[in-house]
Amino acid sequence: MNLYNIKDNSEQVSFAQAVRQGLGRGQGLFFPEHLAPLPDVDALLDLPLRERSARLLGHLLGDEVSAEKLHAMVDAAFTFPAPLAKVSERIHALELFHGPTLAFKDFGGRFMAQCLAAFRTDEKITILTATSGDTGAAVAHAFFGLPGIEVVILYPKGKISPLQEKLFCTLGGNIRTVAIDGDFDACQALVKQAFDDEPLKQAIGLNSANSINISRLLAQVCYYFEAIAQLPKAERAKAVVSVPSGNFGNLTAGLIAKALGLPVKRFIAATNANDTVPRFLKTGQWEPHATVATLSNAMDVSRPNNWPRVEELCRRMGWSLEALGSAMRDDAQTVDALKRLYGEGYLCEPHGAIAWDALQAQLADDEVGVFLCTAHPAKFKERVDDILGLDIPLPGPLAKHAELPLLSHNLPADFAKLRAFLLG
Ligand SMILES: *Cc1c(COP(=O)(O)O)cnc(C)c1O
Repeated sequence: MNLYNIKDNSEQVSFAQAVRQGLGRGQGLFFPEHLAPLPDVDALLDLPLRERSARLLGHLLGDEVSAEKLHAMVDAAFTFPAPLAKVSERIHALELFHGPTLAFKDFGGRFMAQCLAAFRTDEKITILTATSGDTGAAVAHAFFGLPGIEVVILYPKGKISPLQEKLFCTLGGNIRTVAIDGDFDACQALVKQAFDDEPLKQAIGLNSANSINISRLLAQVCYYFEAIAQLPKAERAKAVVSVPSGNFGNLTAGLIAKALGLPVKRFIAATNANDTVPRFLKTGQWEPHATVATLSNAMDVSRPNNWPRVEELCRRMGWSLEALGSAMRDDAQTVDALKRLYGEGYLCEPHGAIAWDALQAQLADDEVGVFLCTAHPAKFKERVDDILGLDIPLPGPLAKHAELPLLSHNLPADFAKLRAFLLG
C-alpha cells in the first residue's frame, strides 16, 4: 500500500513507514494512494468478522504483509465482537464497546499495536499520544508489556472522568501518563510540537498512536462492514450511519468503507457543542471556537485533526460535502436524548446518545438507521447514573482498575518541560 502526505504529495511512503512515522512532513496526514473497490462485497459480508477483516485489510495493504501474518494480527487485535442491537423498528445500535477498555478505540489501538510490533526494527520506539479520554486507555492496554515500546500519554488534567483516568493511569511498566494543565487541544498541540522537533524525534523514536495513525483508521473500516453484515440484505442499501464525532477518525473510516464499496446510503456527523464541522457544512466557513467541556468529553475537540482526510477522500471520490449529514447536540439536548433512549429500552452513554438523537431526527421513512455506540455506559458511570437515576454495575476491567492508585505525572502545558520529561 502506498500513501502520500496530503499536505505535500511528493512525500510517499509504504504502509509500514506510515505506521511508524504517524505524521508526514509539515504535520501532514498520510492517505492511501489507491482505494480500489472490493471485488465481491456481498460475499465478503457473509464471512465472520475476523475472516472478513483480514481479507479486507489484505485488499488494502497488498503484498506488504502476508495473508497469514495479517490473519494472526487481526486475530490478536479483534478479540471481541461488535454486535448490532435493535433499538426500535428501524434503528440499530452498533456496540463497539465490548473490548478490554470498553470503547471503540480498542479496535484501532490494538490493531496499531500489532502493526508496530510487526514492523519494529531494533530501534527504540516511544509512542506519544494525547487523549481526551478513551484513546489513552485503548493505547495503554494495547501496548502494555510489548517489548521495546515505551508509551507516554498526555491528557487534560481534571477534564476526563475519574474512572477513565483510573483505567489507563494505573498500569505502570512501559506506560507513563502525564496530566497536563490545559485542555485537550493544548495536549494535542504539545504532541504536534514534539513531532516537529527532529532531534527529539530521533533520540526517542517518536511515534504517535492517536487517530492520525493510518493503521487505526484501517482497523475501524472493518466494523462498518460488520454493521452492514448484520442487517437483512434487503435493508443494506437503505442504511444511514450516524457517527458521534470528535477528531473525525471514526467518520473517515466509515467513508473509506463506502469508497471500498460498502453499501451505506449516507453518513451523519454528530457532534456536541464543539460543532466546528456542522457549522462548516452549513455556512462554508471554517471557524473553530474555543473548546468547551461537555458531557461527551471524548468529543470535546474544536479543531478535528482528521478533517483534512475527509475532504481529501470526498474530493477524490467526487462526493459533495453537502451530502454529508450533520447535527449538533448541546448538553441539555444530550441529557434529554439519553432519557428518551432509555425510555425506548436502550441504556446508552452521552456520545452514543448524541448520534442516536441526530439519527432519529434525520432518518427518512424509507431508510434504516445505525448509530455507533462508542463507549460502554459504565465508562461514564457518574454521569449516566446521575441522569437516569441508576447505579450501573462496573464491568470487570473497570472494577479492577478503580481500586488501584494513580501513577500519573503532572506538567504545565509547556513544551520545554515536556521535552525534558521525555528525554529524562
Ligand atoms: C474518541 C471518541 C469519539 C470520537 O471519535 P473520533 O474518531 O475522534 O471522531 C466518540 N466517542 C467516544 C466514546 C470516543 O472515545
